[in-house]
Amino acid sequence: MQSDNDLKILRHSAAHLLAHAVTELFPGTLLTIGPATQDGFFYDFLPETNFKEHDLPIISARMSELAQQNLKITHKEISKEEARALYKNNPFKLELIDNLEGDTVGLSVQGDFYDLCRGGHVASTKELAHFKLESISGSYWRADRNGQALQRITGTAFYTAQDLQDFEDKREELLKYDHRRLGKQLDLFSFHNEGLGFPFFHPKGMIILNTMKNYLRKKLVKAQYLEIATPTMLSDELWKQSGHYEHYKNNMYFCAIDESTYAVKPMNCPGSILVYKERPHSYRELPMRLAEFGLVHRYEISGALHGLFRVRAFTQDDAHIYCTPAQIETEVCTIIDMTLEIFKAFGFNDIQVGLSTRPENSMGSDEYWDQATNALKNALTKKGVDYIINEGDGAFYGPKIDFSIGDSLGRRWQCGTVQVDPFQPQNFDLHYMDSDGTKKQPIIIHRAIYGSFERFFGIVLEHYKGKLPFWLAPVQIKLLTITDDQKEYAHSIAQQLSAHNLRIEIDSSSDPLAGQIKSAQLQYIPWMLVLGKKEVENNTITIRYLDGKQEFGLTLAQVLDKTTTLNNI
Ligand SMILES: [Zn+2]
Ligand SMILES: [Zn+2]
Repeated sequence: MQSDNDLKILRHSAAHLLAHAVTELFPGTLLTIGPATQDGFFYDFLPETNFKEHDLPIISARMSELAQQNLKITHKEISKEEARALYKNNPFKLELIDNLEGDTVGLSVQGDFYDLCRGGHVASTKELAHFKLESISGSYWRADRNGQALQRITGTAFYTAQDLQDFEDKREELLKYDHRRLGKQLDLFSFHNEGLGFPFFHPKGMIILNTMKNYLRKKLVKAQYLEIATPTMLSDELWKQSGHYEHYKNNMYFCAIDESTYAVKPMNCPGSILVYKERPHSYRELPMRLAEFGLVHRYEISGALHGLFRVRAFTQDDAHIYCTPAQIETEVCTIIDMTLEIFKAFGFNDIQVGLSTRPENSMGSDEYWDQATNALKNALTKKGVDYIINEGDGAFYGPKIDFSIGDSLGRRWQCGTVQVDPFQPQNFDLHYMDSDGTKKQPIIIHRAIYGSFERFFGIVLEHYKGKLPFWLAPVQIKLLTITDDQKEYAHSIAQQLSAHNLRIEIDSSSDPLAGQIKSAQLQYIPWMLVLGKKEVENNTITIRYLDGKQEFGLTLAQVLDKTTTLNNI
């Protein structure tokens, strides 16, 4: 079993092998850098003429030959002067040499190929046999959009052929259930060049999104939250006061209104704070839980965008709880209950929890940190939740709890945070009148469960591989008839089901039953009601489930009973 570090060493060595093959096949190419990544490796090149897709198998074949040659990979230190001479025609390597500390630099050597490198390689090219080149894409020197445009070749490598095969199988599976692909197949949402990174939701996608929202609203009412909505654009003065301007301005969008600069909100906190500050509060009102489904905009570089997972605008299921330090524990207990219940409703049973504690450069007294951290710990313990401690990973103003969920495809997603914050109340001079008649400062607990509706939508879609559970499916029931003679019966059933707010479609085609079933299956509709001569005669219904199982001879009342149970989550 190899460690992550072993894999890193292998993959970084594979990047050298790639550069070696490229240098031989395309001698004028300038080399830049070639690191290992999470899933593999890449090398950024400046070729004389751009690489094309069909160059990949040629490069790959040469890499295999070099691997076969079992070339020893050695490392040596040379003087910077020597290195500058070696790279006199390569401005990228010269820049790297200039930026390195010390008088010497490392050189990795295999056969007659060498590359500037600080080391950490496998012993011989023979170990690099199990690699795969995947793609050619554009990149920039030092990831700077104004810098030199380069070409990136990306690949992956493993120690054994089996590991590589497993990785490729897994990748293929993920691709099959990619939410962008499912979104198209099921007509849920789309992306357009006219608004890069801004999702367009189609009618069926909106049904899912609204079902997620309605479900959450029900939970919010039960937990005594109050819902607010605050503006999307607010004066930059506010963002300066909140500190977002200073720390986050590169990710914010600005525009002018009259004589002032406004910013499109990247977070909902300042808006919520203005609502709190609008009038004085008594201790009797606390904890005051203000929830907002807040649409935020954040600038992301176009290369980082990824379907619904990484967008430039998304809706947070945000809430700010204004409370006293003594109320933190109880509030967090409620949040934990709510979070676990909600994740389970979406079929996520593998939930991990992390508690991030005081970082080095923090503000606030020891007493405050102890109290806040203990409140979170006590809440987790009371709720019987196992958690890991992320030492020193809290914000500079307070500890936090993170929830992550494991999906059906073996991945983990960080969703849900609870963050204790005495900083913004102080910053915005928030108060409440305590029982003894003195003015005191509340604490804010920032919390989100889905995190982002859009991203959670994507995660849920992939988790279910497109086959959404009954309560969430945009079309819950499709009515199929064996011949046109049953159409009237179908319409009367449909009408009665719709009256119970069920989402119904009738197949109006004259296709044979098999064809109707096929088209409903392609849309992953959970239930098909199959109506034939017998059903009409007996006034019954046959349910055919998506997995092919069937139930015959049901009355409408029985069908409605079943739907009520499934919708009642
Ligand atoms: Zn190296
Ligand atoms: Zn907040």
